[in-house]
Amino acid sequence: MEPLPGYSLDLDAIAAQLKEADIKRVAVQLPEGLRHRHAALLQAIATTAGVEVVYLADHTFGACDLVTDLKPLGAQALLHIGHNRIHATPGQKTIYVPLESLHPIDTVVTAAIPQLRSPVVLCTTSQHLPKLGQMEQILKDAGLEVRTADGGRGCQSGQVLGCHYGAVRNVAAGAASVLFVGSGEFHPLGLALACELPLIVADPYTKEVRTVEQTRDRILRQRNAAIARSYDATHWGVIVGTKSGQIRTALGLRCQALLHKAGHQADLLAVTTLSPEVLLGFPQQAFVSVSCPRIAIDDAARYDRPILTPPELEIHLGLRAWEDYLFDEFP
Ligand code: SF4
Repeated sequence: MEPLPGYSLDLDAIAAQLKEADIKRVAVQLPEGLRHRHAALLQAIATTAGVEVVYLADHTFGACDLVTDLKPLGAQALLHIGHNRIHATPGQKTIYVPLESLHPIDTVVTAAIPQLRSPVVLCTTSQHLPKLGQMEQILKDAGLEVRTADGGRGCQSGQVLGCHYGAVRNVAAGAASVLFVGSGEFHPLGLALACELPLIVADPYTKEVRTVEQTRDRILRQRNAAIARSYDATHWGVIVGTKSGQIRTALGLRCQALLHKAGHQADLLAVTTLSPEVLLGFPQQAFVSVSCPRIAIDDAARYDRPILTPPELEIHLGLRAWEDYLFDEFP
């Protein structure tokens, strides 16, 4: 049986890369949704490549979340499965194995056509990216003008991340709609905040085509409420992420300086994985986070105090108008 059913996984190619680098022990990271397959995968890698394999069992949030010190494990390389590279790992052999979903996209992309307005900005996630050309052709055959673009943060043409939508923003001017092909709420929610164009979501797994017209308004109302809840705060925490691809210490220092200038107490708090439990017992009345921007937005209800993004802090301090609300994106 395939170790990761539903995905294209070239074990021979992985084995060849490990052999070429003379790797004897490799550490493996898997996306959360595939952790239940880790045992079959480890066995397949060990057997095919003839190496020792250690599974890194902590939660892995994405390609921003690499383990960068393998020495305690005696591993010579990191095998990061499920995402492509978004940042450098100096001094460490890191092999990225993006996973292509084998799920067909043609039916759901065709079903989305009646809801699209031309020109359409087309985007997806790394797992469907190899089918971007097929998606584009289906839309063009229907007479639609299609735009795809390079983003930043290591994204390939047409690819979006939860913290980066350059592939859409870069070609949004003059476009009439956005088609996102993928599953779940995570990427559509970020897209709705990062771009004001009408957004159509086509889910290859559920075959559902849906609009997210009200999503932007709902999230903006929640963000407005978070900013309002922080108005009485005089003691702030500035949360600086320490995960490999979430480090924005300079931005954290800038936020701290802005808060000091406004007469507030503000402490820099370095956190690897933020959770409500981590903040228990801290006296700060409000926080601004410069780590993963989705913590403040998606997880707000889990926290007992407001957590703002840097652009939201600017609104709070009167340095940015609410009408100029900006989704906090990694460059
Ligand atoms: S910073 Fe957040 S949104 Fe961006 S890749 Fe990491 S987990 Fe995903």
